[in-house]
Amino acid sequence: MSDKANRGFQTKCVHSGNGIDQETGAIRRPLIMANSYRLPEDASTMNWSDPNQLVYTRNTSANQIYLQEKLAALEGGEACVVLATGVAALAGVFFTFLEQKSHVICSNVSYIAVYRLLQEYLPAKYAIETSLVDTANLSEVKQAIRPNTKLIHIETPGNPTTRVSDIAAIAGLAKAAGALLSVDSTFASPFLQRPLEHGADLVIHSLTKYINGHGDAMGGAVIGRTALIDAIKRQAMVNLGGAISPFNAWLIMRGVVTLPLRMKQHSQAALLVARFLEAHPAVAFVAYPGLPSHPQHETARKQMSMFSGVIAFGLKADVDTHNKFVNSLALIVPAVSIGHDESLIVYTGPNDERNHFYPSEFSKGHLRFSVGLEDPQDIIDDLSQALETCGLQQKNVEV
Ligand SMILES: *Cc1c(COP(=O)(O)O)cnc(C)c1O
Repeated sequence: MSDKANRGFQTKCVHSGNGIDQETGAIRRPLIMANSYRLPEDASTMNWSDPNQLVYTRNTSANQIYLQEKLAALEGGEACVVLATGVAALAGVFFTFLEQKSHVICSNVSYIAVYRLLQEYLPAKYAIETSLVDTANLSEVKQAIRPNTKLIHIETPGNPTTRVSDIAAIAGLAKAAGALLSVDSTFASPFLQRPLEHGADLVIHSLTKYINGHGDAMGGAVIGRTALIDAIKRQAMVNLGGAISPFNAWLIMRGVVTLPLRMKQHSQAALLVARFLEAHPAVAFVAYPGLPSHPQHETARKQMSMFSGVIAFGLKADVDTHNKFVNSLALIVPAVSIGHDESLIVYTGPNDERNHFYPSEFSKGHLRFSVGLEDPQDIIDDLSQALETCGLQQKNVEV
C-alpha cells in the first residue's frame, strides 16, 4: 500500500481502484448493475446498514467502491464517499456536521445550492446560524468565528466569480476554533489543488465537472478522514438515499483516467483566452486566477499548480448585447455546467440574488466561460467573430 501511495498522480489516475476481475480475468473492473448482493450464510448478526459492505446498492455498490478508492488516492485522503451529485455531497457534509443551533461560516460567493442550504433551508428548519463572508479576506473569516462555529466552508476557485481563498490560512483559523474546514475544490480538481495537503478536513467535488470531464454523468464526492467520511455515508447515503448509480460511477471512473491531460489543456487554453480577452478593448473586466491582474493571483499560485479552465468576464455593453454576444457564438455552447470537453458559456445577468455580494464589476452580471478542449485558436476566433457581430471593436490577436 505504501508503494502505491508513492506513485505519481498520473499513475494513480490510471491504476488506483482498478484491478483484475476475479471471475473473467478481465483487466478492467466490470460494470455491476445489481441492486442486491448475496447475503452471508448467517445474516442474522450482520449490520444491514453498513455503508462499506455490499448488501444493497443504496448502502454502496461495487463500482462506487472502486471510484472511492481512486478519488481517495488522488486527493491523498484516507477515505472517500461518492454520491449522486455534487449537491448531494455538499448537503451530506452540512447535514452530518451541523447540529441544531450550530454556526457555519461560508464564502459569500458560492454555488447557488450552497447559498440556499446554508442561508435558507438549514436556518429555517434547524436554527443553524450562518455567516456569509468574503473568505478571500482572512480578517473577515476570523471576526465571524463564534463559540458554536462547527464548520467553515469555502469554495476555491469560487463559482461563478473565480474568487480564490487561502486554504492553509483558513485551515489554521478553523483548527484554532475547533471547527472543521470543508473545501469545494470542483473548479480545480485534485490534479491542480489538493486541499487536504493544506490542512483542510474535507474536500468536496462535483464529479459532474472536471473529474468526469465528458459532460455525460453526474456525481459528487467527499474525501477526508475515515471517521468523518463514514458518518456522511451513514446519513447521506444509507438514510437519505443519495446513492450514485453504478453506471455513473463506472463512467466517471473512465473519465478520470485522462484528468491530468485534460487539466493541462484546459489550463493552457484558458490562459491564452484570458489574455486575449484582457487585451480586447470591448472587454470590461476578466477574472482568471492565472492572470497577474486577478486579485488573489498570489494565493492561487501558492496552492494551485495551474489555474484550470474557468474565466469570468464582462463586456462594455448592456444586458441585451451580452445576450446577443452569447447567441452569436458558433462553436462555444450556451449551457450551464463547467469542465466538459466542449466550451460552455453562461450569462448570469444582473438578477442573480447573490450579486450584492460581488465586487462592483460583477454586479451587472457577467459571463462564466468554461474553456473546453477545442483548439485554442478556434475558441478565440469564435469569441472574436461574436464580438464583431455585436459591433464591439475588433482587434486581431494571434495566439
Ligand atoms: C456544479 C457545482 C456543484 C454542484 O454539483 P452537481 O453535480 O451539479 O450537483 C457544486 N459546487 C461547484 C463549485 C460546482 O461547480
